[in-house]
Amino acid sequence: MPKAIGLVSGGLDSALAGRLMKDLDVKVTLLHLKHVFQHRSRGTSLSQLLAESLQVPLIEQEISEDLLSAVCSPRFGHGKNLNPCIDCHVLMLKKARIEMERIGADFIFTGEVLAQRPMSQHRGSLNQVEKQAGVKGILLRPLSAKLLEPTPMETSGMIDREKLLDLSGRSRTRQLQLAQQWGVEHFGTPAGGCLLTDPEFTKRLEKTLERGCPSVADADLLRYGRHFLLDDNTKAVVGRDSADNDEIESLACEGDIFLFSESPPGPLVLLRGTRSEGNLRLAALLQKRYGKARDRESLRVSFRPVGSEQVSHIEAQGSLSEESLDQMRI
Ligand code: SF4
Repeated sequence: MPKAIGLVSGGLDSALAGRLMKDLDVKVTLLHLKHVFQHRSRGTSLSQLLAESLQVPLIEQEISEDLLSAVCSPRFGHGKNLNPCIDCHVLMLKKARIEMERIGADFIFTGEVLAQRPMSQHRGSLNQVEKQAGVKGILLRPLSAKLLEPTPMETSGMIDREKLLDLSGRSRTRQLQLAQQWGVEHFGTPAGGCLLTDPEFTKRLEKTLERGCPSVADADLLRYGRHFLLDDNTKAVVGRDSADNDEIESLACEGDIFLFSESPPGPLVLLRGTRSEGNLRLAALLQKRYGKARDRESLRVSFRPVGSEQVSHIEAQGSLSEESLDQMRI
């Protein structure tokens, strides 16, 4: 029985590829590469649900550091936004190759569909990615295989080419029909919800990149709240709602400071960078601006370093003009 490792994203195409391989009597292991630019779901992930429904093992790995380096200095450029899709595909296939060798699989498969994405899935870039990742001859793209050169897995008879598909283009109609026909239920929205293709998130990340490549922790924090740059090294992040506050709290690092007010309650503000009197005051004014005390002349704002229970206070006196907010906002 051939053994293969399949890259899955939580999307429809990779779920179909996994199902197709399983139906062709391939011993499948799924590989899900996680990173900070994915939309996160709480609880069981779509990849876990897919692995459970196919009754196959799932390997999950973190690639945020590597992907962030590709975002900051892409070898093959960015797509329409800050998505370095070719570098990202190369990176994922390199990781898949390592896992393939580690578990003793015969080949790798993906859910890529010819001509589905402008940057990374036209014929030229599929070949380029394959070459750059060093996976030529060991990569099968079962959803478009009949439109591509036969691979050694097909010519050797390990996989019956006739049972593979000929999908191409951006339309998902056939994929949705197949999902219904095959009972594939666990998949997310098209594009896997990568934040690097989201124009709003990209704007914020672009402004951050102007000051150098951020850490994974800083990139992660960009997903939540309102962000303000207080000086070259310092930012304040203001929660928009209680869900944001919880996420911001969970992403705080040693050295960060939380600002909050108990009465009236308001957003959680995280200060990251230089802990000067001026920055604390600005962060306190932001806390007041986005809380219920917005129209008050002053507010006593509490603050404490992350990891400490020791609470101090600072007076937020006056208010920030819309113009200064605009200048600080990223
Ligand atoms: S959309 Fe995001 S996750 Fe998908 S290939 Fe491009 S950079 Fe990678």
